Amino acid sequence: MSKATHLDLPVRFGTVGSPASTPKNGGSMGGIARLRELNLSALELAWVQSVRVSDETCARIKEAGVEYDVALSVHAPYYINLNADTEEMWQAGRERLLAAARAGYKAGATDIIFHPGSYMKRQPAEAFGIATERLREVAATLRKEQVAVTLRPETMGKSAMLGTLQDAITWGQEIENVLPCVDFAHLHARAGDGSFNSYAEFSAALSLIEAGLGERGIKHMHIHFSGIAYTSKGEKNHLNLADADIKYKDLFKALADCGAAGRVLSETPNMEEDAVLMQTTYQRSVAKAQR
Ligand SMILES: [Zn+2]
Repeated sequence: MSKATHLDLPVRFGTVGSPASTPKNGGSMGGIARLRELNLSALELAWVQSVRVSDETCARIKEAGVEYDVALSVHAPYYINLNADTEEMWQAGRERLLAAARAGYKAGATDIIFHPGSYMKRQPAEAFGIATERLREVAATLRKEQVAVTLRPETMGKSAMLGTLQDAITWGQEIENVLPCVDFAHLHARAGDGSFNSYAEFSAALSLIEAGLGERGIKHMHIHFSGIAYTSKGEKNHLNLADADIKYKDLFKALADCGAAGRVLSETPNMEEDAVLMQTTYQRSVAKAQR
């Protein structure tokens, strides 16, 4: 299913938001062209504040994605909480998620990434149950509207938030148009003690995804990655790979060895430089794995 990229790798690499080196006023179309110049092939449109994009712009983004062979996804607005404690707050978040999916689909995006929310004052298990029912309804609404996208709840970097790896896998198992967005930096920060930072731990996470979701999961991965600063409570801020403790070579070796396919989006401050570094590192691991 996954189309080989120009580099003929099972994983595409790119950035969340247009590369910093996109010519001024280039917008998403310029970002797509810039990614291609950098030999990258994926873009996550960062609609993180709101979804304000005309149908005409969506059509042009879609065209550019096809022309440059850059795979597209959308990061939905931050202000979505599947566990919102008032109906009013939930409805506002629900509308944002639906708007991101509807416009993203028009723009040629296949995947809609969002932050599932926080526990508020609820116990994690109760919050998870509420979140699951709400996500199920949104996913069904999109299917009914024939908005053919995959909703991707992201694994989150703070212990007070919904979005453990197991949460995301379970949502993928229970709902047909839902799969995880696996942020490996967040999972490292969430642990808060420096763990989740080895070949064995990365491989175990990938095995969990394969066991829970099969080919549908492991061959259609959507990954966020960066260096990360953290405390015992989790994420503080994103860092460049060179400035962080994250063992990125081990991650790309684990991805290559297990035969995962999909996309990796860089979220470091020097986004596209690190996307290229990630791609080069992965490419070397794939070559070694094939030997
Ligand atoms: Zn995110």
